[in-house]
Amino acid sequence: MKRAALWVILLTMPVRSAGIPSNSRLAAPSAQLADNSDVRSAMAWFARNLAAINEQQIHLTEIPAPPFQEAQRAAALKTLLASAGLEVQIDNTGNVIGELRGATEKEIVVLSAHLDTVFPLSTEVKVRREGDRLVAPGISDNGTGLAALVAIARACHEARINPRRTILFVADVGEEGEGNLRGMRAFIDAYKSKLKAVIVLDGSGTDHVTTKALASRRVEATITGPGGHSWSDFGMPNPINALVRASVRFINTRVPAAPRTTFNLGQIEGGTSVNSIPYQAKLKVDIRSESEDELTKLESALRECIAAGVRDEMESSRDRSKGKLDWKVDLLGSRPGGELPAHSQLLAALRAADEFVGNQSRIERSSTDANVPLSNGIDAISIGAGGTGGGAHSLHEWYEPTGRDMGLKRALLTLLGVSGLAEEKSK
Ligand SMILES: [Zn+2]
Repeated sequence: MKRAALWVILLTMPVRSAGIPSNSRLAAPSAQLADNSDVRSAMAWFARNLAAINEQQIHLTEIPAPPFQEAQRAAALKTLLASAGLEVQIDNTGNVIGELRGATEKEIVVLSAHLDTVFPLSTEVKVRREGDRLVAPGISDNGTGLAALVAIARACHEARINPRRTILFVADVGEEGEGNLRGMRAFIDAYKSKLKAVIVLDGSGTDHVTTKALASRRVEATITGPGGHSWSDFGMPNPINALVRASVRFINTRVPAAPRTTFNLGQIEGGTSVNSIPYQAKLKVDIRSESEDELTKLESALRECIAAGVRDEMESSRDRSKGKLDWKVDLLGSRPGGELPAHSQLLAALRAADEFVGNQSRIERSSTDANVPLSNGIDAISIGAGGTGGGAHSLHEWYEPTGRDMGLKRALLTLLGVSGLAEEKSK
């Protein structure tokens, strides 16, 4: 199919959102988008500034940003987005939000990249060059996304892009592990009613588009008891025994192959010495599923198993006079699921952008910042920001900028495909 034809299809597609009357103007026709001189000039800006974008990525990667300690990197992003002509604020959660006002302020599209890394403050984050590669913890995840966020904002500014819908450039906190998507959750809460699409830039590459959010829960079971001496108190209820009884029950729980559902007993601890009846035992379990219902079922199965393990242990203990066992199950983290509708304007925009830059990408299911908007019924995708990378979450993480240009154009065209251009700027 001809590129121009694809763009026309994209932009004549109805907007899915119920909030928009069907006769309202859609995004500028895609043929016009790719032909628009401002858009061409924004794309050309990337090619001229690749070395500077590399430098920006190194600079940002060398500012540590462990979970809950993203403030210093956030301040740097604020400065960079402000110098790209945006009105920038940092919200109460620590997210940096830069606004490029559109003709229709009531409708917002978002380009985001998470600020945080998985690495503790003590990690050496100085970037080394090995041939064409840049090597440092966090260089790709999410140095690439942040550098692209700034570059795209800057290109829009230099090319005087005038979007139809308001574009928010967001560098958010708390994507990794214990952050539990807190930045994106707070952002979506605040802007939910106006959001039409969210495009998440996470890591490198152009080979995939995440449209399906993998739902997960992390829970911790704790069983406590009076504790005692292994010899003299023998027969008293034992929290480790109860946890083992509960675990064996839970391991035998059947999970469906489709929708794919998994569980992992990942960490177990308890007791103080070999000759003491422990007063406490703990178990951490990770539960994932393509279906939110299965997730809920599995979590309640775990609760039932813990309760049953405690009951079994109490019933078989010879000496219940010295106390009983208590148990609780705490939710350590929860990532909601969701899925982008196959006929969404956002996916069409991404596909048209892929076609335009000559890229092919596959649909993926994964756990990213896009989980939050998707679970709220807001169109969202997560994509890499170009170039190639590897070793994510390891000390040997690397990034190679070759091909970054394509990733930047792809993200820009997808963004403008859903924001549209203001009428007076369409040519
Ligand atoms: Zn990431």
